[in-house]
Amino acid sequence: MSAIPATGLDINQLHVLVEELETRVANLDDTDVQGRSACQSLLARLRSLWSTNKETFPTELISRLKVVATALKQPRRIGPEAGAGAPARAVLAETFGYSEFRAGQEPLIAGVLSGSDCIGVMPTGAGKSLTYQIPARLLGGTTLVISPLIALMKDQVDALTSVGVRATYLNSSLDSSERSDRVRNLIAGSYELVYAAPEGIDAWLGDVLTRADIRLVAVDEAHCISQWGHDFRPAYRNLAGLKSRFGGIPVLALTATATQDVIHDIGEQLGMRAPLEVRGSFFRPNLSLHGKPKGPNLKVRDAILALVRERPDESGIVYCQTRKSVESLTTFLERKGIRALPYHAGMEIETRNRVQDAFRRDEVDVVVATVAFGMGIDKPNIRFVIHRDMPRSVEAYYQEIGRAGRDGAPSDCFIFYGWSDVKSAEYMLQEVDAETADRQKRKVRHMLRLVEREECRHRAIVGHFGETIENCGESCDRCLGIDRIEEARNRRRKGPRLGVTTGLDPAAEARFVALRALRKTIAAERGIPAYLVFNDATLQSMAIENPESEVALAEIAGVGPKKLADYGPAFLRELGELKNSESPLVSVDERGKDS
Ligand SMILES: [Zn+2]
Repeated sequence: MSAIPATGLDINQLHVLVEELETRVANLDDTDVQGRSACQSLLARLRSLWSTNKETFPTELISRLKVVATALKQPRRIGPEAGAGAPARAVLAETFGYSEFRAGQEPLIAGVLSGSDCIGVMPTGAGKSLTYQIPARLLGGTTLVISPLIALMKDQVDALTSVGVRATYLNSSLDSSERSDRVRNLIAGSYELVYAAPEGIDAWLGDVLTRADIRLVAVDEAHCISQWGHDFRPAYRNLAGLKSRFGGIPVLALTATATQDVIHDIGEQLGMRAPLEVRGSFFRPNLSLHGKPKGPNLKVRDAILALVRERPDESGIVYCQTRKSVESLTTFLERKGIRALPYHAGMEIETRNRVQDAFRRDEVDVVVATVAFGMGIDKPNIRFVIHRDMPRSVEAYYQEIGRAGRDGAPSDCFIFYGWSDVKSAEYMLQEVDAETADRQKRKVRHMLRLVEREECRHRAIVGHFGETIENCGESCDRCLGIDRIEEARNRRRKGPRLGVTTGLDPAAEARFVALRALRKTIAAERGIPAYLVFNDATLQSMAIENPESEVALAEIAGVGPKKLADYGPAFLRELGELKNSESPLVSVDERGKDS
């Protein structure tokens, strides 16, 4: 690039420089971090030149430079093919026990590791945590994770500790002595990750953090910073100066859904420099989607009971539109012997927290709830989500079904829908101003059209979010041409069938059931949620592969060295004992044949 004259600014030279800058910016490759930063520094020098020689710069040149500046600020887009490199793959395998990245994870990790600011639009269940947890291991120092969900911090830290990552959280739930201990350790460099709430940053954490060796800031639920978003949280505005406060370290912003307005706002508010924008996929093939129109011949609550009974000891959520139906459906399910609890915003906060905890610890199988249930739920082993009523928008539907199967194991989603849902939604909108009511009405009608459409359900949903995929082929009732709800109702008369969600053969299903019981015992002994031992996906692979040695066990996704050491022997012993005793397999085989 041409040199900038120190003195005696020549207008022709200036034109050449601007033109050169324009060409370089226009041809800038999104992955070219070096080139981009060279352009930024040239622009900065031109800017300072202008500030001392304003009269030399023609207006035309200034407006051209403004265009360049805007272009440099634009989020860069990078394809999923960008690799994160061998060290990131090694952490994925050696710490977390996985051999494959999920869509969007790799380019984000690559971006962060190359020192770029990044905005990741990662739909629910797309595995966004790894996009900062892996860099945290590689960057050294401490990664600061800002999250609004205080209730989830402990779970996240427990999950990291279970795979041997040094992590902690700092928030208002800690007493002062515990807090000072953690602060001391943080400054001493004891943690790879520290979670904090945005409110804390403002109040007291700010000073502490400048004394720690922070190398990366990850902002979760980043749309909360934007007034364009629906969840604006004023405390997020405290994050505005973070990047510069830590000397320009990379900032990673994560959000589940975001429009271009919100994305732009996130970049601006967090002071990001030419952030790299990466979108994960909205397609969740492990969710099997099924729907059924409501009608005079369908008793929805009986159908729900049949579906729940087919899934003994599995965690699920049943969403209802009103508190009243939450209460009555819970009572109905309880009377039929289902371990179910209600959850809605009309209940005392303590009661609600108790329900959430019981669900998290697998002490209750089914939570019957209104939309109020979910924000604080990060339970990876939710095996089914049933919608007794149709949600009022595709966004709400996607978010709610997205709570199923976060561990990647097969999970089922059922929705009952009908014109009556549209009518009741419209009835609720009577009190709302006309403009809002109109918008909501359009959304709910759009939702009905979407579920009624005779096409692949996954394709329809991701299409709504602007993504194009082929028909799923095997993860929805439209593609499969089956009616699982009808099947469940018919099967009720013949007794339950095993492996309905997992699709395991009877022998593997028997191993899965035994391993799940072992997991429950271990979790109870240690006072942790069962999924922190191994998640369902890992347990199912174990049941299928039936490993006989530690080497074989370590091959299974989700079995890293720490978990292998902690739990491997117990699980191998259990599998060994199952092999030696034929009897439980025989009885399950029999039950399998009956269905
Ligand atoms: Zn499909």
